[in-house]
Amino acid sequence: MAPTPMIQQYLQVKAEYQDAFLFFRLGDFYEMFYDDAIKASQLLEITLTSRGGNGDDRIPMCGVPHHAAQNYIDQLIQKGHKVAICEQVEDPKLTKGVVKREVVRLVTPGTHTEGKSIDSKSNHFIAAAEELEGGFSLSYVDISTGEATATYITGAGQALLQELQSLHIRELVVSDQLFLLLNEEAQDVVLSIEPMEFSYAADETLLAECPEELKMGCRRLLTYIARTQQQSLQHIQTFSFNENGQLLTIDFHSKRNLELLQSIRGGEAKGTLLWLLDETVTAMGSRKLKQWLHQPLANRRMIEGRQQLVEALISQYFTRVELQGLLKEVYDLERLSGRIAFGSASGRDLAQLRSSLEKVPAIASELANSGSERLTAFGEKLDRCGEVCELLEAISENPPLSAKEGGIIREGFNEKLDQFRYASRNGKDWIAELEQRERQLTGIKSLKIGYNRIFGYYIEVSKANMHLADLERYERKQTLANAERYITPELKEKEALILTAEEESLSLEYELFVQIRDEVKQYISRIQKLASTLSELDVYVSFSNVAEKYRFVKPEFNDSREISIIDGRHPVVEKMLNKQHYVPNDCVLTEQQNMMLITGPNMSGKSTYMRQVALTIVLAQIGSYVPAESANLPIVDQIFTRIGAADDLVSGQSTFMVEMLESQYAITHATDRSLLLFDEIGRGTSTYDGMALAQSMIEYIHDHIGANTLFSTHYHELTALDQTLDKLNNVHVAAMEQSGKVVFLHKVKNGPADKSYGIHVAELANLPQAILGRARDLLKSFEEGKKQKVSHVEQLSFFDERDTDTEEVLQAIADVNIAAMTPLQSLQLLNDLQAKLSK
Ligand code: ADP
Repeated sequence: MAPTPMIQQYLQVKAEYQDAFLFFRLGDFYEMFYDDAIKASQLLEITLTSRGGNGDDRIPMCGVPHHAAQNYIDQLIQKGHKVAICEQVEDPKLTKGVVKREVVRLVTPGTHTEGKSIDSKSNHFIAAAEELEGGFSLSYVDISTGEATATYITGAGQALLQELQSLHIRELVVSDQLFLLLNEEAQDVVLSIEPMEFSYAADETLLAECPEELKMGCRRLLTYIARTQQQSLQHIQTFSFNENGQLLTIDFHSKRNLELLQSIRGGEAKGTLLWLLDETVTAMGSRKLKQWLHQPLANRRMIEGRQQLVEALISQYFTRVELQGLLKEVYDLERLSGRIAFGSASGRDLAQLRSSLEKVPAIASELANSGSERLTAFGEKLDRCGEVCELLEAISENPPLSAKEGGIIREGFNEKLDQFRYASRNGKDWIAELEQRERQLTGIKSLKIGYNRIFGYYIEVSKANMHLADLERYERKQTLANAERYITPELKEKEALILTAEEESLSLEYELFVQIRDEVKQYISRIQKLASTLSELDVYVSFSNVAEKYRFVKPEFNDSREISIIDGRHPVVEKMLNKQHYVPNDCVLTEQQNMMLITGPNMSGKSTYMRQVALTIVLAQIGSYVPAESANLPIVDQIFTRIGAADDLVSGQSTFMVEMLESQYAITHATDRSLLLFDEIGRGTSTYDGMALAQSMIEYIHDHIGANTLFSTHYHELTALDQTLDKLNNVHVAAMEQSGKVVFLHKVKNGPADKSYGIHVAELANLPQAILGRARDLLKSFEEGKKQKVSHVEQLSFFDERDTDTEEVLQAIADVNIAAMTPLQSLQLLNDLQAKLSK
């Protein structure tokens, strides 16, 4: 037997949405069938049942109530799935046979932007990528706010996927071919294919800022959004594109190592630069700050533009306090615009929009009266959106959430509406009077008039008083356990009047509301611009509060490459230290000496020092003040770090491999305007090849790249390199021995460290005394042995005895062009070299 017509309909729709759970509307439920049902019942922990409809086979089925669907949709999306919502698109009462059904929306991880699981303080982007020569184009849009960006990614698929990860992008729209290329590597991101068959003419003005090469990805993305959402895309903004050289590039690993937005140990916010910096008071401001941290500037004029506003706010304490107070009252204008464009804004949303807009004049006048030219000029950018305010006057003070309940439009706005309301209210007064009258007539004090949806208005008399009811006029309608309900012709007549008035009033009100909402739509781009300006202001106020609270200073910029940070601090470590004193340190790199080799015992503060320099640069280039007594900085184009032992457990690579990959990336991409931080390179492998690699990298950077570089090492032997590399300077982080124990001074001083404190650190970690004692003895004998050997090697070279094999190895290392090697090739080389040495 063939499946029933309804199941046939289901199968047809499902064929078009293979990769999504199909929520098929049946009355008050969304039902799922077949495999969808089996999978969903497990994922959502709901009961799996079955039904007939396909001959003798039972069809697996499960369902969720329509009114509670959102929660289940959230859960599926959260787990990386898609949900197609299939609704009944005609009234079942008016149709014979199967009701027509259509998918009205495809909810996907990238387009799902509202709901309990969504953090409104972060952007939720959906992206599209296209393959280009040597890299990819990447376009991304936040559907809830309309923000859109297009950019280039250089490198292989991995680089693209890492960029997605650092932007928290969960869905990437691609062509068939790109799908094949990325499918295996993409783990945390859902790949959606958009074949572009659906004819959606993207608004080309949105692409105006993009280079030709990037447009295809933007078009693909817009097409996908239009196809799946079937809603207005009017609020999508022009794709912003930043020319090369305008931005400071920090790769994914470095961002993570520096803990700009995410801590190394997972997503926790505490301990990140963001955690320290975010004193914004609006969700829009918080999102803006994240965008800036994600993408600092590399254009001096733009940076100084931000800086000047921060400077002005710092000197105007009261303005700042007032502004923050006003901004707190501004709702999320970007998301409100999104909802208005989608036609999903409620009366309450419009009231929030109105009350936010009402704050703008006060904010503007605060800025105008600040006495600062900069702030005044900034204030003049604020668009008060007068037309929108006028439109919104129609909305009542406190409208309900539901658009159909009434009470959205204020009294006096529409004469007809007022009449209906009057009639309905009047009728209700009449009912109250009738109640009084009937009580008198019958003598039943407890008689009351009630209303329910089935019987309408009725007169209710308790059982005890039933004998007093006037049965000549009363018609019995319903019997309850302890009361009887009646109607009268008079009551029914009035009821009809009241109900029509109410119905008319509700439907007119809804009509007016939708009309206003649609009219507001045409001002969306102005509201969005205003939102962007306000969110910037929020960030500037936050910067100035942070600068004051943590004693930051305004950095100066120079056009050379010199770094001069006096008494700099790591702001996050400092904050975490609580009451302990953070030891400030200078960092001075000049054109003549722009590489630092940092030695010192473990735990002395080497990596903290290196990070602090990088964070100072990042803070400066987002327009913030910096934690130091003074700072004169270059504009850096890229920051690369190879720091700490953040094992890449997820991708299953060994620490050493990760170390080499990150080094390779840094060395091939860095320029002489970059900042390189290399922490303990070579630690992950045996002493000799680790040291060899470290030295050859330092030499390579010194001779071929010329980037400002901080290099920490525990290979004391490397400190001799300053004799051959004139741009290299030795510094060490001081520690002191006090009655056999190590005391960390955390102070960076000139010259190499003179002693290894490893055993003392082990003691601090409470290793058993037996082990510590033995280690001390061993150290002594090693040192004695070494002295003898070193004494016959004149120069401090790190190979004690050089034979011909060693010479060959050294020569091979010197000859190799690291920049031109793949990580695999370099591992292979290492392997060969090691084989030679152990011969
Ligand atoms: P290393 O890289 O030398 O092993 P870290 O940079 O990890 O050492 O520093 C170890 C700890 O020392 C940090 O967690 C921090 O608590 C403390 N520390 C580092 N630098 C300073 C400083 N300048 N002032 C105070 N405490 C510091």
